[in-house]
Amino acid sequence: MVEPRHVTVIGAGVVGIATALTLQRDGHRVTVIDRLAPGQATSFGNAGGMGVTEMQPASLPGTIWKVPGWLTDPEGPLAIRPAYLPRLAPWLWRFWRAGGWDKVTALADAQAALNDRARADWQPLLAAATLTDQLKVNGALTLYRDDAGYRADALSWQLRRERGVEIHAVGPDEIHQLEPDIGPGFARGVLMPDWGHVLDPERIVTGMATRFVGDGGEIVRAEVTGLVTEAGQPEGGRVTALQTTIGERPVDRLVVCAGAWSHKIAAWLGDTVPLESERGYHVTLPAAPVALRRMVIIGEDHFVMTPMSMGLRIAGTVEMGGLDGAPNMARARVLLDKARRVLPALVGAAAVEGKTEWSGHRPALPDTIPVISAAPGFANVFYGFGHGHLGLTQAAVTGRILADLLGEGETGIDVSAYRVGRF
Ligand SMILES: Cc1cc2nc3c(=O)[nH]c(=O)nc-3n(C[C@H](O)[C@H](O)[C@H](O)COP(=O)(O)OP(=O)(O)OC[C@H]3O[C@@H](n4cnc5c(N)ncnc54)[C@H](O)[C@@H]3O)c2cc1C
Repeated sequence: MVEPRHVTVIGAGVVGIATALTLQRDGHRVTVIDRLAPGQATSFGNAGGMGVTEMQPASLPGTIWKVPGWLTDPEGPLAIRPAYLPRLAPWLWRFWRAGGWDKVTALADAQAALNDRARADWQPLLAAATLTDQLKVNGALTLYRDDAGYRADALSWQLRRERGVEIHAVGPDEIHQLEPDIGPGFARGVLMPDWGHVLDPERIVTGMATRFVGDGGEIVRAEVTGLVTEAGQPEGGRVTALQTTIGERPVDRLVVCAGAWSHKIAAWLGDTVPLESERGYHVTLPAAPVALRRMVIIGEDHFVMTPMSMGLRIAGTVEMGGLDGAPNMARARVLLDKARRVLPALVGAAAVEGKTEWSGHRPALPDTIPVISAAPGFANVFYGFGHGHLGLTQAAVTGRILADLLGEGETGIDVSAYRVGRF
């Protein structure tokens, strides 16, 4: 039996709201605080993938040597804003170090441990919010133009295979049968049946938030500007209140799920976390005359296409330039240009009528895996952030683990890999 607490969650993105709903269902009284309405930051516009097979770290042996080519290609999948490079250098160093042969299998195991539980932990939350029909488990199809493209990703396929992921190699004829709208020019495909996607990532957050409020949860709209702490022995200090734009609010237990901004809050507690924004972009085409049956990933070009309830969403790109600069929407248009080379039906003005463009900040740690952890110096504080490309996928399992840590229950998973102090 968990002792009921009042828990404050900073952040109303998919991770914060999934955590809040889980804590509430465990019997706690929960307040969520965010400067925005639920799901209006990064969780609004992601590609919707339940990428449960994606355990390979972003940094793999050899990845770093691909970076110069990506950076010099104006249509490449990675951009670094030059003025930001000096601030980014320590993160890049850590990223490179995380890609050593001695590290990747442990990182892949840690990511796989979360992904293995991801769908099971989503089920009760989706059911509670009557969102079960929003998740389609139709698999994902990754496409390569030639063998060289496939071979460049060979290690990530090997890591998946070694961890039991079901993978089917398909050729041009099967690609056409699986996805008739895809144009010619792809020599190899890889089908992963375990993938799923949601029909609208924003709706997943707002649907859970509605259920949370309906069951007595509180959502407060304000920015957290500081923390009031008191020292304590022997169990460490405590956070006693939040300073916010609408005044001070008392705290019993605190969970930080503030996405790409979380390191700023952790720093107030003396925890230095190398969290950076990997800005991504999407274009959504409500009138696209295309009916993809599943998520399609273009291997060489590093972008994805998802059939959603509001249209076809094309998403991708990693742009590293901090949290403060304006987005470069030309990058969203590059995604559209690339998609037009894959889906012949997108050529022509009618196909893109009503299109919307968006960008958001993926919260990225250099070793790819998130922080899911108690705060070392503060007995009543917990962290859940840094999910990078997998925040939607891992939101529910993160919420479940945080609720177990907070309730001093069994997490059912070795959480040492996700500790905040690992850097
Ligand atoms: C283009 C793109 C495609 C993606 N595709 C996928 C995908 O297919 N599958 C997948 O699993 N993931 C995907 N992701 C990643 C996923 O979207 C993120 O990992 C996830 O949304 C992060 O959720 P979050 O709740 O941590 O952060 P957010 O949604 O950013 O929420 C954090 C919240 O904290 C609030 N906040 C921060 N600081 C404060 C403060 N001081 N005071 C008050 N409020 C504060 C912010 O306002 C914000 O609302 C994609 C991301 C992008 C950009």
